[in-house]
Amino acid sequence: MPSTDLWRLSASELSTLLERREVKAAEVAESVIARIEQAEPELNAFISRTGDAAVRHGSRVDDDRANGAHLSPLAGIPIGIKDIICTKGIRTTAGSKILESYKPPYDATVWSDLRDERTLLVGKTNLDEFAMGSSCENSGYGPTRNPWDTSRVPGGSSGGSAAAVAAGMVPISIGTDTGGSIRQPASLCGVVGLKPTYGLVSRYGLVAFASSLDQAGPMTRSVRDAALVLKTISRYDPRDSTSIPGDRPDYLSGLGRPITGMRFGVIKELSGEGMQPGVVERFQQTLTTINRLGGSVEEVSVPSVTYGIDAYYVITPAEASSNLARYDGTRYGLRVEAPDVLATNRATREAGFGAEVKRRILLGTYVLSSGYYEAWYGTALKLRTQIVRDFEAAFGKVDLLVTPTTPTTAFAIGEKTADPLQMYLNDICTIPANLAGSCGVSIPCGLAAEDGLPVGFQIMGPALAEATMLRAAFALEAEIGFDGSKAMS
Ligand code: GLN
Repeated sequence: MPSTDLWRLSASELSTLLERREVKAAEVAESVIARIEQAEPELNAFISRTGDAAVRHGSRVDDDRANGAHLSPLAGIPIGIKDIICTKGIRTTAGSKILESYKPPYDATVWSDLRDERTLLVGKTNLDEFAMGSSCENSGYGPTRNPWDTSRVPGGSSGGSAAAVAAGMVPISIGTDTGGSIRQPASLCGVVGLKPTYGLVSRYGLVAFASSLDQAGPMTRSVRDAALVLKTISRYDPRDSTSIPGDRPDYLSGLGRPITGMRFGVIKELSGEGMQPGVVERFQQTLTTINRLGGSVEEVSVPSVTYGIDAYYVITPAEASSNLARYDGTRYGLRVEAPDVLATNRATREAGFGAEVKRRILLGTYVLSSGYYEAWYGTALKLRTQIVRDFEAAFGKVDLLVTPTTPTTAFAIGEKTADPLQMYLNDICTIPANLAGSCGVSIPCGLAAEDGLPVGFQIMGPALAEATMLRAAFALEAEIGFDGSKAMS
């Protein structure tokens, strides 16, 4: 392969070539940067780009390898990081104008772990402001477009991360998922997106949206690459009080083992009604594939699951209204001068936040206010507990739960911006795993007949079942043989 085409390869493929010293990390970085130059004007997947530093670091990786150093399989692999993850000295906007010139004085653990493995950061990817959204249209830096069809959204909030991976701008990106923001855009862009169990990956250095749900995870073009990245970023971190102590299993060793006898539960409440026919068709086809591979498929009821959206859109605004109180014009970020402190605070927030963020702050403040707290926030917490229990009961019967990742394929830019409730409905299949604290992954399972756009198949496991979930995803991926090349053309 000519070195100019290296951008087409997965991280695992690049890793083999780098280890054999058949290609240089600097060449890989240059190839990816050329691809970004070509595709970025149309896609707008990045908020900031750091290509020059990536090439420099790549050359150092090459020197060390030439000197016989034993390096990580990720050394010299280009990555993109969602711009809500703090990178020391590199602008981190969270997609918001209120942080337009914010350069964090410290690194998020996910990033420092990846940097220590010597991955090459090529840029910070676009997202809905503060990760609030399902289409990337709420970014303060313009929408990202879907590489399969640029009149469509890439999904959100990690839309830039998904589009960048699908288009070949990076083999790996890191997203965050509070209610589906890794899995939903992965589904709409035809890539793999994994949301780890809450507490598996450190939240230290993630700009907080809803702290009881936020998790970072990998977005890649193959299940093996997702496992490779998860291996690096999942560890106990004393700087995150919700980090789960103890060692993590080896996510790679189970890949390739058969799934014979594995029990898959189709969530009855989320398996077809109101969904696009082409999505349902691909979903059903994948269930047949499971059977062919020797897995069993049965229908499982998770009665509370349809209340997930209701609970989520009370709990997350409540947490966000508290988390976002820190953007007051006095500590960091934007400051709009006004005669007194309160007026400065008001003017800064008025100018710095976009419409969706304001909507959620208002909603959150309302549901937490005295007199309404029990009725709204209290009820939502009860629903969340019920979902946790129903998931536990379901996982007593089956090993993994499956649903389509999203009810439809990628929708048109502008199609849902006028109706927030329509937008929120996108998350119906992804939110439950966040509320239950489970892990979930979306893998591409084909193209929908009506529009030729990618469909995602979601697999969820109980807490800490990533290894089993990845094993199933790997087996299905091999059988499905999804072709994502159209997004790379
Ligand atoms: N789309 C959901 C929301 O708008 C999920 C966002 C996320 O996971 N960060 O809140």
